[in-house]
This record gives sequence, C-alpha cells and structure tokens, in this order.
Amino acid sequence: MRCAVVADIHSNLEAFRAVLADLEARGGADEVWCLGDVVGYGPDPRECLRLLRRHPGAAVAGNHDWAAIGRLDTGHFNPEAAAACQWTAEALQESSQDADYLAGLPLTLQRGDFTLVHGSPREPVWEYVLSTQVARANFQLFDSRFCLIGHSHSPLLFELDARGSCLLHQLPAELSLAGGTRFIINCGSVGQPRDGDPRASYAVIDTEQETLRHYRVVYDYKVTQDKILDADLPARLASRLSVGW
Ligand code: ZN
Repeated sequence: MRCAVVADIHSNLEAFRAVLADLEARGGADEVWCLGDVVGYGPDPRECLRLLRRHPGAAVAGNHDWAAIGRLDTGHFNPEAAAACQWTAEALQESSQDADYLAGLPLTLQRGDFTLVHGSPREPVWEYVLSTQVARANFQLFDSRFCLIGHSHSPLLFELDARGSCLLHQLPAELSLAGGTRFIINCGSVGQPRDGDPRASYAVIDTEQETLRHYRVVYDYKVTQDKILDADLPARLASRLSVGW
C-alpha cells in the first residue's frame, strides 16, 4: 500500500494542490494520511477541508483544528495565530459540515505499523517533539514501530537504536523502514514550512517496499500571499511563506 503523509496544510490551497499533483505524478497513493492542522493561518480553510475529504485515508486533529471550532482556548496562541483562528472560525460558520468534520477527528490513530498524531503521543495537540529528550519519553507511549507527527513544521527523524539511545537526524529523501528500528517521523508542513525552505513538504510511504520518501514541492506562494492580504489576515502570515518560516 502507498500512503501519502501530509501535515499542517493550514488553509494553503495552492500548496495542498501542488502536493496532490506531485503525488499523482509519482503514481498516486491508496490513502492520504493527514496529521492535523488542516486549517488556521491561511485563506482557504473550507476548500482545503473539502479537498482532503475527497481522498480516502485517515486524519487526526491538530491544535488549530480544535481552536477553529472553539474546543481549545487561543489565549496562548501568538496574536497572529489567534487572529487567524478567529477569522477561520467565522469562515467555517458558512457550513456546519466543515466544523462537524473537524469535531469528529480523533486525537490519535493507528494504521498498521504507524501511529498518527499531530503533536506527540503524550500531548496529542500540544507537545512539540524537537529534542531527543522529548522524543525518548514519547517512544514509550505508543505501541507501533513508527509514529508520524506534525506540529513543528520541521522535517525531522528521531531514531531509537537497539541500545535504547535516541538520535536526531534530518529527514532523508529516502528512509528505509525495514529492520527493527523505531522512528518518530515529522514529514514537514504542506502549507507553512518553517525550516527555511518555502517549498511544500510531504512524504509517501510504501508498505511493501518498506520505504518512506520525503518530497519538497514548489508552488506559487504569491497567490496564497495575495489571498491572505485580501482577507485582511495578518500580513506576517503572508510574508513568512516566501522564506519558509
Ligand atoms: Zn501547524
């Protein structure tokens, strides 16, 4: 089975479309797994939700998904994130279908050898896994061999080696999933990359070949930036897309 892994789309329709087109060009996927934050920050929440729902697969909730339906307080969001969240909540009021879909998303899911979660197994919508200390604690909190995460918008790979040590790597272009090694894998963000590379980030898992391939996709972020400014969303949410921050 081939599964595309997408995370942190953040209402960026141009980036999401570019990723799906790239996926098709590479032979498509049987399922699309979404690791949360479909909405928030960007100008097209409803269109991104609709596009995601057209693809068979699995999805879990992110902090922005919950904030957009009032399930989570935005008091500790930064001002731009909170303003975008308010804007998104209003946009979603046009159709109850979108809010109902977000309300129905689970916090974690298991698909075969993979646990899917937005933040971490320990704190599914909150925790950022950016250090080996945090990763090591989380390796004890899921049963599958692999855990796929989002939230930090940075492609990263945590490896638990045979002696129980936790190692941090950049996510390689191709990762072998064969053997007994356990990984926590962040495939990066589709709609708001934060690793200094503005290209959309996603991955394809092939369960027969036991590989994960990480891809970066050029998209026309100027279109998204214009939409952000036209919608009166905070200007910094537009400018950051050109630098991948
Ligand atoms: Zn996010």
